[in-house]
Amino acid sequence: MPLSALVVSKFSTTTIVRPCASSSTVLCNHRVSSLVQQRSIRSLATLRDCRNAVRCTSVPPPSQMQKRNKMICSHKTFASDLNELFKGNQDYVSNMKRDNPGLLEQLAIEGQKPPFMVVDCSDSRVSEQDIFSAQPGTMFTAGNIANRFDEADLNSNAVLSFAVETLKVKHVVVMGHYGCGGVASSMLLVNMDQVTRPADIAVQKWISPIREIYETSERKEIVEHRERCKENPITELPDLHDPAFRALVEENVKSNVEKVAKSAVIRDHYASVASSNGAKSPEEEAQIEVFIHGWVYDVENGKVSDLGVSVGPPGKRLPPSPFPMVDA
Ligand SMILES: [Zn+2]
Repeated sequence: MPLSALVVSKFSTTTIVRPCASSSTVLCNHRVSSLVQQRSIRSLATLRDCRNAVRCTSVPPPSQMQKRNKMICSHKTFASDLNELFKGNQDYVSNMKRDNPGLLEQLAIEGQKPPFMVVDCSDSRVSEQDIFSAQPGTMFTAGNIANRFDEADLNSNAVLSFAVETLKVKHVVVMGHYGCGGVASSMLLVNMDQVTRPADIAVQKWISPIREIYETSERKEIVEHRERCKENPITELPDLHDPAFRALVEENVKSNVEKVAKSAVIRDHYASVASSNGAKSPEEEAQIEVFIHGWVYDVENGKVSDLGVSVGPPGKRLPPSPFPMVDA
């Protein structure tokens, strides 16, 4: 999610924020938009940021950063002009015919058999097929705010169940990304008593497990950030390069890898793999093995790194990762 999107709901006229402070601060959209614009984070201004800026009736003139990000802000035009979408689809059809003749027809006839399932963020900058230069039919995806997996969430559970048991994916990847708005907002304390709009409540409830990670993590960067907030209340979103912000992105991924691994679907699957030991050929066993991975995507340079928290069926060796490890 874009950073500002979770602070300034597109449905809200006011946002109540109590970041590390004892008293609440009521910020109008203009105020929060200004906060976002004042920060280096604005280099990541996205569609939602642009929309918020447009919605604000007294928005200041475009900043240098906004001018520099002309290409990013052009998303506003792209999203508001359906003709652009239509043209984009025509281009896609032409390109597929040229680069992958017959692929779409083949997938339509034979159905999908993707080897990967990806749990990633809904953020418009995180486009999994583009990130991995993957063709259609490669990835079964479950995107949501801040790449969470929640077994109690029917959608999350159904997607994982279908991916593992029906599609028989080989790898389930939880992929977070630096600069995640859902994670950033989890670092700001919110007085839920003053959050009354349905849209705000929905978002805040969804990211509450990430806030819990922030509040309880023993990771050095996060602990230091919490301590600093106690001494000097902050009212701004964390900077993209804030070590605590990056650490929380990573810890959120790790937490969700663990949740996937502990889900009933995976536990049941691993149990079935264990019970089939010796009864199937190595090739057959390899086909039903599922590995779970935790990766993080860098929105600044497009690179993906491995957090080194992969999980596989008990007794099975993890496949080597070609991705560089995050220093964490
Ligand atoms: Zn995100």
